[in-house]
Amino acid sequence: MSTSEQNHPGRDRRAVRHPGPTGAERIQGERSVVVVGGGIAGIAAATVLAERGVRVTLLESTDRLGGRVAAWPLDDGRTMSRGFHAFFRQYYNLRSLLRRTDPTLERLTPVTDYPLLRQGRHGDSFAHIPRTPPWNVLGFVLRSPAFTPRTLAKVNARAALEMMQVRFPETFSAYDGESAAMFLDRLRFPEGARDLALEVFARSFFASPHDFAAGELVAMFHAYFIGSAEGLIFDVPTDDYDAAIWAPLARHLADLGVTVRCGATVEAVEVADDHATVQVGQDALTSDAVVLATDPRSARELIGGLQAHTQSPDVARWRDAVGETRNAPPFAVLRLWYDGLVDAERPAFVGTSGFGPVDNVSVLERFESGAAEWSAKHHGSVVEVHAYACEDGVQPGTPEAAELERRLEEELHRVFPECADLGVHHREFLLREDCALITPENWAGRPGVETPMDRLVLAGDWVRCDYPVALMERATTTGFLAGNALLSRWGVAGEDVWTVPMRGLLARRG
Ligand SMILES: Cc1cc2nc3c(=O)[nH]c(=O)nc-3n(C[C@H](O)[C@H](O)[C@H](O)COP(=O)(O)OP(=O)(O)OC[C@H]3O[C@@H](n4cnc5c(N)ncnc54)[C@H](O)[C@@H]3O)c2cc1C
Repeated sequence: MSTSEQNHPGRDRRAVRHPGPTGAERIQGERSVVVVGGGIAGIAAATVLAERGVRVTLLESTDRLGGRVAAWPLDDGRTMSRGFHAFFRQYYNLRSLLRRTDPTLERLTPVTDYPLLRQGRHGDSFAHIPRTPPWNVLGFVLRSPAFTPRTLAKVNARAALEMMQVRFPETFSAYDGESAAMFLDRLRFPEGARDLALEVFARSFFASPHDFAAGELVAMFHAYFIGSAEGLIFDVPTDDYDAAIWAPLARHLADLGVTVRCGATVEAVEVADDHATVQVGQDALTSDAVVLATDPRSARELIGGLQAHTQSPDVARWRDAVGETRNAPPFAVLRLWYDGLVDAERPAFVGTSGFGPVDNVSVLERFESGAAEWSAKHHGSVVEVHAYACEDGVQPGTPEAAELERRLEEELHRVFPECADLGVHHREFLLREDCALITPENWAGRPGVETPMDRLVLAGDWVRCDYPVALMERATTTGFLAGNALLSRWGVAGEDVWTVPMRGLLARRG
């Protein structure tokens, strides 16, 4: 790893470049790879491989690319998706992937604040505080109404300092056995700040803090705020995800010669010593290697049934480790197309606390051009509500799901009271359970990019990565690393990966 003096991908001079493998610029001879899964991770892997001359076939089971960030058309030109995604400035690798088709990132637009609305209490905001550590932390503490001399005196200073003493990857394992809730209890933050840590971080990872790893929480404090000079600010696409991201990237892949097959569900994977095969319906596709970049549940199923031509005990252990990974509880997205406008001062995005199951609300016409057109034409707002870590077991189409949808709308009326007086033209409600849960147990035992088989690598936001990255950025980073792992075996130079600093400001040297 090395810090480069120039060409930093953002404003943080302490960002770290992790050089890719060295070797030939392009593959010598013929090499072929099948990438399973057309979400961010699969597309990232397919991109780095194809750019170096590898023949890539990308298989996606649904009828479009994007995975959990896909967008699909509805009636009369409207679109739907799993909703609001924040593209943080420290997502260096995702941004590098997007720059392939949008060099100046014109198809992202900034959301300049991350306001938090608390029922019955003061809100917090990350606007107007410095972005560079440690001034960002100091500025936040000084401005936050939750921190007073009295509440500050109660904070466990040692636990608070831990957040500035992180070193990766060691910090992930250092918290083995401790949940995010246990860490927050130990921290003894004032109630408001504890809520903030939960809302902004733990719940955004789709998890109850009791089931979520403290190491992951601390890593994310570091990556998104304490340890990064990019600030807790983010961008969002200027149009629906398909128009802004996936259609251009699909054209880029086609230009690189990648065969993209949507509607192609891989049913089985077989890994031999000298090749790998995936089964899609009646087709058996043989290649030099497979990148498995599916969502966590599909990966567990495919690896559970994997045919591996080796008796190595490592394979059995690895298969068990994959089997032990878990999905997070369900999440819900409610999008409403209103027949009138919300108040002009409503922000594009607001995180919420104390409004029942609601975690955040966004007003889509503030940033998405399709929604803006609809809004202008119908003089109405397009408002979206998210709820993460919903009760386990709530299934789409059940009375519990209907009750959740009703609650979300009711709580929205408390967040933006004017919505109660508006009529609803259209509504879309999604309830899914396909996100990963990073549990507190044995971080190092989680499956990583490399597997005990040279011809199979993993990518995705559920895959262990030594770097302080998460969610979309972990998906991209593991996608790049999966491509790099194969390229290095074939003597080809790979993709550099960038991250926020690998250490906190107060980390031990050496
Ligand atoms: C409501 C919501 C809000 C979010 N907000 C944010 C945010 O603000 N910031 C952020 O960073 N992240 C956010 N995320 C997380 C982000 O969406 C994921 O981290 C990321 O999309 C994961 O990408 P992936 O490529 O690892 O997996 P996926 O997107 O799940 O891609 C896997 C793909 O594999 C395909 N597949 C599965 N099985 C097979 C098979 N057998 N054969 C072929 N294909 C198969 C799937 O159809 C899918 O397209 C959010 C997620 C949700 C749901």
